[in-house]
Amino acid sequence: MRAINYGLDRPAAKVTAAILCCECRLCEAYACPLELSPMSYYVAIKGQLKAQGWKPEKRQDGAGPEPHPMRDGRLVPTHRLIARLGLTEWEDQICPMDEVDYCPARVTIPLRHPRGIGAPAVPSVTVGQEVAVGDLIARIPEGKLGANVHASISGKVSHTSETGIEIVA
Ligand code: SF4
Repeated sequence: MRAINYGLDRPAAKVTAAILCCECRLCEAYACPLELSPMSYYVAIKGQLKAQGWKPEKRQDGAGPEPHPMRDGRLVPTHRLIARLGLTEWEDQICPMDEVDYCPARVTIPLRHPRGIGAPAVPSVTVGQEVAVGDLIARIPEGKLGANVHASISGKVSHTSETGIEIVA
């Protein structure tokens, strides 16, 4: 946000930490008293970094990013978040989905993030294979960055493709 204030014309080179933004929206929905949106800025910066082919440097010791030392003191109370979002009136209401053990008869699980972030996962199951809830059904190729995919229901794999895996209960 300071880079915007200072009018840096190519801020992406200065704001590489933007790559750590997971787009949770907490900053714009809760944290910023001026109701600014750091997330929108970071999304734009991430687009610039991607277009420039920027990649984070690997640390010499091989370690990844570490949590901020003040992390535990910065957790957001759910009750305050609900109030800030103007949802207090409904805070005690029970979601019908929580009341029943909802289990759809069929699901299709995408193999890549809806925003195209990261590499797509590759199916590790075959059509006809039985899977249980939580089983690993697609994994990220070695050396790529992305999220492995797990079964959300128990059942039989009925279809796999480059884009998704269908499971029938
Ligand atoms: S910058 Fe905002 S949207 Fe991004 S991780 Fe932080 S709180 Fe979440």
